Amino acid sequence: MKNDAQHADVVIIGGGVAGLSCALYTAKAGLSTMVIDAEASQLQTVKQLNNVPGLSSPAAPLGGSDWLIYARSQAQEAGAKIHGDRATKLSLDTRPFHVVTERGFECTGDFVVLAVNLGYPWLTELGFDVAVNEHVPSGKIRYVVGAGYDGVTAVDGLYVAGLLAHIPSQSVIAAGQGAFVGVQIASRQLGRPYMWHD
Ligand SMILES: Cc1cc2nc3c(=O)[nH]c(=O)nc-3n(C[C@H](O)[C@H](O)[C@H](O)COP(=O)(O)OP(=O)(O)OC[C@H]3O[C@@H](n4cnc5c(N)ncnc54)[C@H](O)[C@@H]3O)c2cc1C
Repeated sequence: MKNDAQHADVVIIGGGVAGLSCALYTAKAGLSTMVIDAEASQLQTVKQLNNVPGLSSPAAPLGGSDWLIYARSQAQEAGAKIHGDRATKLSLDTRPFHVVTERGFECTGDFVVLAVNLGYPWLTELGFDVAVNEHVPSGKIRYVVGAGYDGVTAVDGLYVAGLLAHIPSQSVIAAGQGAFVGVQIASRQLGRPYMWHD
């Protein structure tokens, strides 16, 4: 590992719906949070998002890319750093975890959250079993075998978020699941149940 690798309490790989939602909660809880994102969320092509309760409707539509812009700036305002790049290496057998990107950026994290959705082929290279997420009719979406709504994996400190956690393909569910992972990590790190109420 290079000595100049940045360290964060939480490294989130994939800054789409679930990753950004997770980042908002870990950063707000005071955990240093690094998001590495290849900037190809499935949501960014959605012209009109009509099914986020209280936020969008056919009468007051919100674009998918707008949702992502707002979610990015919300996570950044809470303190998260976002690095636009694709993660290509992740060491599972060192602590902290060590992540390297396509363009040579390196960072370490005490916790890692995998929220890469369509980036699942990389996860198979890392040794994870993935299977078709039968909640999504297209048959193109995968989940990490063994991971459920809590995102917990067999590797201590490593979580999955979003569609990889075997959930249906609705943004509001992916956002909620990402937030749940963030709250669990914050609670673990703080040693008490974390709650954000304004
Ligand atoms: C055509 C279409 C229309 C849709 N319409 C709706 C709708 O109307 N309402 C609704 O609720 N949902 C809709 N969805 C579903 C919604 O987009 C998904 O449920 C949601 O995006 C899933 O969130 P996620 O965080 O799991 O994945 P994503 O939002 O796809 O985010 C994954 C992120 O990980 C990044 N990534 C991948 N590999 C790497 C890597 N190695 N390193 C770094 N980053 C990486 C990607 O670039 C991406 O930014 C639609 C989807 C599609 C395809």
